[in-house]
Amino acid sequence: MPEEYDYDLVVVGGGPAGSSAAFTAAKNGIKVALIEKENSIAETVRTSGVTWIESIKEFGIPDNCYNPIKNFSFVSPNNEVTISDSIATAAVLDVRKTYRWLANEAKVEGADIFVKININEVIKNENNDIVGISGTGPNGKIIFHSKIVIDATGFTSTISKAMGFVTQWKRFGAGAEYEAVVEKADPDTWWLMVGQEYTPAGYAWIFPLGNNIVRIGVGVGKPESDVDPTQRLKEIIEKQLGPIKKLGKITPIEFHYGLIPNDGLSRKTVFNNLILVGDSAGQANPLVLEGIRYAIKFGRVAGKVASDAIKNKKTDKDALYPYEEEWRSAIESKINSAGKVQDRWIGLSDKEWDKELDIIKELKTDEFLDFIKADFGLSNILKLAMNHPKLAVRQLFNLVKGK
Ligand SMILES: Cc1cc2nc3c(=O)[nH]c(=O)nc-3n(C[C@H](O)[C@H](O)[C@H](O)COP(=O)(O)OP(=O)(O)OC[C@H]3O[C@@H](n4cnc5c(N)ncnc54)[C@H](O)[C@@H]3O)c2cc1C
Repeated sequence: MPEEYDYDLVVVGGGPAGSSAAFTAAKNGIKVALIEKENSIAETVRTSGVTWIESIKEFGIPDNCYNPIKNFSFVSPNNEVTISDSIATAAVLDVRKTYRWLANEAKVEGADIFVKININEVIKNENNDIVGISGTGPNGKIIFHSKIVIDATGFTSTISKAMGFVTQWKRFGAGAEYEAVVEKADPDTWWLMVGQEYTPAGYAWIFPLGNNIVRIGVGVGKPESDVDPTQRLKEIIEKQLGPIKKLGKITPIEFHYGLIPNDGLSRKTVFNNLILVGDSAGQANPLVLEGIRYAIKFGRVAGKVASDAIKNKKTDKDALYPYEEEWRSAIESKINSAGKVQDRWIGLSDKEWDKELDIIKELKTDEFLDFIKADFGLSNILKLAMNHPKLAVRQLFNLVKGK
């Protein structure tokens, strides 16, 4: 006989989206299960973990979970720019610590966490709506019945795929990185490296964690390029390209690999008894392929909306729609604008990248940060599109303006 459970809400996937949904739902007083297929939360790291101090504070993430960043350096084949702030605005997360903290927040509120359970099937009622899920765990088959399921399985979107609602993402980023001990690293400064030698479609990076530990990585846009990011990462380290040389001896301690959707906000994210959140919903800023803060923010919204719906005994797509409405109104136009800038960046030659860095040099710190965060509309960026004396600058910011 399979093990069998009844919950109000089942959240599949113990990443930042799933843990955050389980947290607000449990806090709202319903019975929640959070299910993760790995042996522990964040056993495998698939992300570089850069995010923003403002979001960290909003979520209450503890200070010992991140290294603050003040300086943002870009390098292209023949150009370089550093934008500095007097206080730290960005951060590189200790991903394992942060994700485990998020899951523990859910547990403290009363969510039950199940690990080593790989969910691979959905249970449907007579109307073909989801009413549970099943998978395999250490004791064989395991079944969870629930009023709502949240698909927080990340890139694979396992639940939504099993329901037949989505297919594999067609456009996505593939990234490989080493976490490494190096001889010398400035803990306040990140590096983004662009141009053909680093990667033909995307960027390479050095993100410091403090104590002479850095993450060195390469991201490649698919299907634009068929370059293997792992191979390219080894090559740029071997050649000691650009700022990598300054790190001195590099001793890898952990390898990370992952995929992130880059198909825009193309998916419907609510169905009867089902919500998609985080990477399974495609909630990522395409400019720098960052999704952690959206996963946490909209995970929390998903958990609240789902638990309210369960309490109100109405869990169809209309009852869950406030979730989709809230996340779309927060980021849809920004992500669409960021997509236009990304389309321009993906096509740049090395020479054009050198010129693009000249444009970035024109930005004040807050303008640069709003730009890279896709927080268009907050600063003077729209004015730059109208009034800047240089045509190239106006052209770049006109892309953003066209929202
Ligand atoms: C190379 C790379 C670098 C990145 N760098 C950054 C960055 O610097 N900053 C940033 O903000 N974002 C970054 N991202 C994006 C970021 O990692 C994601 O947006 C974020 O992790 C999404 O969170 P999530 O909870 O939706 O999915 P995930 O973090 O992928 O979590 C999904 C969880 O579900 C579990 N799971 C999957 N299937 C099942 C199943 N069938 N049964 C049970 N459990 C299952 C997985 O094991 C996993 O724990 C990067 C992505 C990549 C690939």
